[in-house]
Amino acid sequence: MCGIVGVYRFDGKDTRDLLFRALYSLQHRGQEAAGFVVSDGKRLVGFKDLGSVAQVFERAPATPGDARIGVAHTRYSTAGASRAWHNAQPIWVYHNGRPLVIAHNGHLARSAQIRQQLEREGEIFFTTSDTEVLLHLFARPPEGDLPQRWARVVGEIPAAFSVVLQYGETLMAVRDPFGFRPLVMAEYPDFVLFASETAAFHLLGKPVQWREVEPGEVVWVDGNGVHRARYAEPGKPAPCVFELIYFSRPDSEFVHTPVYRFRVRTGELLAEGETAHVDLVIPVPDSGVAAALGYARALGVPLEFGLVRSHYVGRTFIRPAQTERLSSVRLKLIPVGSLLKGKSVAVVDDSIVRGTTSGRIVSLLRDFGVREVHFRVAAPPIQAPCHFGIDIPTHEELIAYRRDPREVARGIGADTVRYLSVEDLYRAAGQNHFCVGCFTGVYPEGSL
Ligand code: SF4
Repeated sequence: MCGIVGVYRFDGKDTRDLLFRALYSLQHRGQEAAGFVVSDGKRLVGFKDLGSVAQVFERAPATPGDARIGVAHTRYSTAGASRAWHNAQPIWVYHNGRPLVIAHNGHLARSAQIRQQLEREGEIFFTTSDTEVLLHLFARPPEGDLPQRWARVVGEIPAAFSVVLQYGETLMAVRDPFGFRPLVMAEYPDFVLFASETAAFHLLGKPVQWREVEPGEVVWVDGNGVHRARYAEPGKPAPCVFELIYFSRPDSEFVHTPVYRFRVRTGELLAEGETAHVDLVIPVPDSGVAAALGYARALGVPLEFGLVRSHYVGRTFIRPAQTERLSSVRLKLIPVGSLLKGKSVAVVDDSIVRGTTSGRIVSLLRDFGVREVHFRVAAPPIQAPCHFGIDIPTHEELIAYRRDPREVARGIGADTVRYLSVEDLYRAAGQNHFCVGCFTGVYPEGSL
């Protein structure tokens, strides 16, 4: 999971500040590294580094004031070494004398074999990231027009990518035919914005109009305005339902579904058929808050912030090393003892992956005198890895793999565990064309 941004200004002014504001609003999508490239279409200036968006932009040297095209990225690694400067994005090169810049969100399942093939043919890579493979495939002859080029790329790598790419004086946004990862475009009076989520509009103001880049579509901007074309049949769209469950910011909208409303609805559905009697509902902050609200309201039980989040530690799921995950849970969550002692509580979270975080939460609550802990999950059990850009580990590391909820409860030390069903996810979203591969082990046909 990463955040990507592209800006094309029609008034010829500099894009750097707009890139910063949009990317800052996408910081939740990756915190390892960030970077940006600004360009007048002929020359480029790029800077990337490890660190947060604000840190990286602060460290960046001055850029020319007339760079009307910009591309930016904030990184969370799923392929290629993490915490490695060379794998930060955007990736930029010159090709045929023109700037060629890419920012990618997703994961290219077949990239290792294609990379080996390209290397055998004499191609040179600067990074170990799968994104660079995409750049090579785009740049290879025959050139053709943009839809033809992307049709050729997708013939080799069907998924998963949402990409912002600059080639010379053209800025384009491309989404794979399944639409796994989000990508939106917004038109403002003086510029066009491409971004991972609608949250990117927050610091830019309301656009004149916006829409999602469609699966299998390329949208490009140049001196003649905005153009679009379908380069592949969309097939059966399979946007990642985890964008709604966890990744996207609550104020974003994904596949015509407001994320916050979806999460509240999952909580309401989770309350259906509830048999446990609890005194309090406690969200796991921040990702479980909206679902906990819906759950508590539906049950008529008080919602209390019995776990307070420290704002000085990052999101645990998003940090790469298991050792970091173990140590940061206790740093991150602070139980409010006065609320908890002697109570039976329902703890609501968005998902259980390895069970490490959930087990640590249960143990914390018990340390503070909670009598019963009923763990409620606003998603189905995760039973399989993800091949499309989300860091879900191997089957063996997944606590719900071949374990029923009673065994999962034992594994994390809770009294009971209940999950949402896949059908309830569909009900919450009001549609059913999603990828749910990590819940079912069945991935969209033709995607791998
Ligand atoms: S497998 Fe899961 S996390 Fe990966 S794209 Fe599909 S729904 Fe999203």
